[in-house]
Amino acid sequence: MRFIETRGNDGIKAKYVTFSEAILSPSASFGGLYVPEQLPKLDDEFIAKHLDSSYKTLALDFLTKCDIDIDNDILQEALARYDAFDDAANPVPVVQIEDDCFVSELYHGPTRAFKDMALQPFGYILSSLAKKRDENYLIMAATSGDTGPATLETFKNQSNVKVACLYPDGGTSDVQRLQMVTEDASNLFVFGVKGDFDDTQNALKSLLASEDFNETLKAKNIKLSAANSVNFGRIIFQIIYHIHSYIVLLRDKKISMGDKIYLVVPSGNFGNALGAYYAKKMGLPVAKILISSNRNNILTDWITNGAYDLTSRHLVHTISPAMDILKSSNVERILFDKFGYERTKELMDDLASNGKYELTSEELEVLREDFDASFSTDEECEDVIGEYAKKGYIMDPHTATCIRAYKTLREQKLPTVVYSTAEWTKFSPTVSRALGHEVKNDIDALDWIKDHVHLKVPKMVTELFSKPLIHEKVIDKNTIKENIFSIL
Ligand SMILES: *Cc1c(COP(=O)(O)O)cnc(C)c1O
Repeated sequence: MRFIETRGNDGIKAKYVTFSEAILSPSASFGGLYVPEQLPKLDDEFIAKHLDSSYKTLALDFLTKCDIDIDNDILQEALARYDAFDDAANPVPVVQIEDDCFVSELYHGPTRAFKDMALQPFGYILSSLAKKRDENYLIMAATSGDTGPATLETFKNQSNVKVACLYPDGGTSDVQRLQMVTEDASNLFVFGVKGDFDDTQNALKSLLASEDFNETLKAKNIKLSAANSVNFGRIIFQIIYHIHSYIVLLRDKKISMGDKIYLVVPSGNFGNALGAYYAKKMGLPVAKILISSNRNNILTDWITNGAYDLTSRHLVHTISPAMDILKSSNVERILFDKFGYERTKELMDDLASNGKYELTSEELEVLREDFDASFSTDEECEDVIGEYAKKGYIMDPHTATCIRAYKTLREQKLPTVVYSTAEWTKFSPTVSRALGHEVKNDIDALDWIKDHVHLKVPKMVTELFSKPLIHEKVIDKNTIKENIFSIL
């Protein structure tokens, strides 16, 4: 698999790069992203072959098909990270909640959100490459709550990689904050920042662009990479669980080979949805990918009327904070795939200079061949959580946004897979409120839900409340630079 660039080549960067190169330095010409030049085909034979495979076996065969420049033993060691999930034999359970609705639970990893699905193996691969090349990397992460813990967890004690993680002080749940500030490893650095997520992210962006920061890195021989989903190293692992969903429905005789299904994906940066799109493009029988959002519903607009318009919007804080995003990075990879690099560059330049762009009606039609979209308000999500709790299934607020898409967007009554991206334990005060019980903090919510709904709270969550706090620093956003310098 070779990689090309979404905005074309600037004549300075290489025209084609390998998988390793794309993940070690993920920024492409003109501020674009790397995308595979070609995707392998997924035929019935491949799917039939894996009817009884474990998740790891399926994943390894898929990665081998992709023909990336990573040794087979490294891939196997990376995939062995799934052995630490709740059930090593079945890291991604698929649970039926309606006759034709199945929830693929992507949150059974160490940090209880779907970010582990990709970051766990990705972190192992990146660190192995750094070691092999004898290079040192810095990963900077600004997080609204799920990327931070998953990035720290995957690079914990890995050689040749340091992680600096910035989170908005007071802007995450207690569980999310504790997952970060209790991480104890000498290569991990965590700072709370006074301000909200946008302040934190903007401060990080200006640091990354600053000359003295880049010169200091160079002088110290440190390279910069990224662990967010602009990095294709995450996307490749986010294709596999969509194939797995189809195989599970087939194995359980809910569908026959070739039958189409819907996939419902709760989206922010569109990485999960991009994985579904690539799986469909490779040949997985998917009728459509249904995108769900919260009130930051810019993706709903984009997919229903072709307008991507930041100018009329400001970010609103919702109970599904991992989707409180307006600039959705992976939309660019869809634009490239559908309309080519020239048009992508034109649209992305429009977005940068005018804060908006609009697809033509022909382009919109092409986009809607694969996607449809809807959004839910916080109240609607709480209703959904309450409704399904009564039927015995507890879901987190991100997953709850999917139910409306499942109920309203399907043109045919096809079996549908909904992706559950976080465990309820990460957003327990919201879930508790949806069940009719107001609480002040996570620990009270976890206790109340555990007793009233008879659910287990996993050990890695309960333990957080008694672990020593390692990273207690809360800094002003104007001092991010000196604080980062101090760890290099
Ligand atoms: C990151 C995240 C999302 C959004 O996923 P994208 O790939 O960025 O679209 C949704 N839900 C949860 C819980 C997340 O952590």
